[in-house]
Amino acid sequence: MRTEEYDVLVAGGGTTGVIAGLAAARNGARTLIVERQRCLGGQFTAGSQGAWVGFSDKANRIVSGMTWELRDLLMERGAVVEDDPETDVCFLYDPEVSKVVLNEMLGREENITTYFNTSVVDVIVEDDTVVGAIIQSQMDRIEIRAKVVIDTTGDASVAAQAGAPFEIRPRKEIQPMTLIGRLAGVDLDKVQAHYAANPVEFDHHVPPAWRDYKSFPGFMHYGIRDDLKNAKLPQHLEYLRHWLVIFTSTPNPGEVTINCSGAIEAQSTAAEFEDRARQEIVSQACLYDVAEAMRTYIPGFENAYLSLIASQLGVRESRRIIGDYKLTLDDFTSAREFEDNVGRAAMPAGFHTPEGETMTVYDLPAGQSMGIPYRCMLPQTREGLLVAGRCVSYEPPVANTIRNMAQCMVMGQAVGTAAALAVEHGTTPRAVDIPLLQATLREQGATLDPAGASSVAAGV
Ligand SMILES: Cc1cc2nc3c(=O)[nH]c(=O)nc-3n(C[C@H](O)[C@H](O)[C@H](O)COP(=O)(O)OP(=O)(O)OC[C@H]3O[C@@H](n4cnc5c(N)ncnc54)[C@H](O)[C@@H]3O)c2cc1C
Repeated sequence: MRTEEYDVLVAGGGTTGVIAGLAAARNGARTLIVERQRCLGGQFTAGSQGAWVGFSDKANRIVSGMTWELRDLLMERGAVVEDDPETDVCFLYDPEVSKVVLNEMLGREENITTYFNTSVVDVIVEDDTVVGAIIQSQMDRIEIRAKVVIDTTGDASVAAQAGAPFEIRPRKEIQPMTLIGRLAGVDLDKVQAHYAANPVEFDHHVPPAWRDYKSFPGFMHYGIRDDLKNAKLPQHLEYLRHWLVIFTSTPNPGEVTINCSGAIEAQSTAAEFEDRARQEIVSQACLYDVAEAMRTYIPGFENAYLSLIASQLGVRESRRIIGDYKLTLDDFTSAREFEDNVGRAAMPAGFHTPEGETMTVYDLPAGQSMGIPYRCMLPQTREGLLVAGRCVSYEPPVANTIRNMAQCMVMGQAVGTAAALAVEHGTTPRAVDIPLLQATLREQGATLDPAGASSVAAGV
């Protein structure tokens, strides 16, 4: 088998991996990103997400660096909706434009190669150190050797194959998956006028922290329980009566992104081929049903049609590695700082309930945020490996604060930079000099400290 050698291998060029690759390359490492789909960005693009959450603590911006650079590039293309960039918790953006912009962003770097339509299918471990992977495209199967491997597959697939410890909740506890869709032909003025005249009654499923969010741009609504309350639904739509459907405007006229929390009763890492096929078929049919219900029962949607079904089924939760540190709910509610802070998070913690009806929510007051420690990206028992994105080490109630796309990108910059430093200094990711990592991240624009602080407070 042919072998290629790199300093850093990034497995999965999704939300986290694309920034991880960028950071590694910019810091001097010869970097390969291997992505199984035909675009960069993962859930950010192929997942058609649309609401890029986690930028502020409701009073101050807490995310900058390469994530902000991407946001600026999208702004230049008119592909972002914002209200006040310094306090918005979220930006609404165009996932299709993002595909092109991510290609351009990486295309400007000298040290980076991206293989599309190529999967990491096996991992090479020598003693306890991950030293590479086997990758497979339609045409070829080759061995990649790398000094550091970064697992940004979302599912901690590389870490799991390498034998690193991980956790996964059982089928009946895990957060539901959702396939994102988009409706076009929406009369948004009419929709907004309708909700202004008919305020939501059954809004207990709206997280209090999100209610009347002044720091959220564009239009966002938590439905459709109230909309369907008095409707005589045909039998095939009856199951939607209790669903949570979050819909948001986009940068484009007459367009709405639909994010339904409705449960798909199969685990995100289901092993059975039949299960995985059913997830796709059921979720696609559900989107069609939601579109029909909205068209029929919500004023302003009369002429709306399903214009897009995302090409990646959205997984909120699957494996989480057991890292050198596991983030806890107490860390969030205490707005804890860590000696190895590499970023910040402030969105309400909690998770979508498994049946898809609501969310548990834990919020912080405006102006407070939590540090993100580097150690939660270091899988126990393995060297040469970093893990970032929604599969890092945390207890489930922390999920909604750590898995947002802004925080995934922040972690991406941290692991990419750490990997390059490990290569430069001939050490392992675990032995990287933390003050040097933090200084490098700060030099490259990242926000590590709470608003108003000049340095990180004593760690816990
Ligand atoms: C339904 C839903 C709604 C959400 N809503 C929001 C929201 O409104 N705002 C927000 O900020 N966040 C939201 N999130 C969270 C956020 O989108 C995700 O947590 C985040 O995008 C995950 O990033 P990631 O890099 O970990 O994974 P991904 O972005 O999924 O990237 C993983 C990448 O790895 C690739 N990959 C996987 N395995 C392999 C392999 N073996 N070989 C090669 N490539 C591989 C995949 O193709 C993918 O591109 C939502 C998530 C879901 C599922």
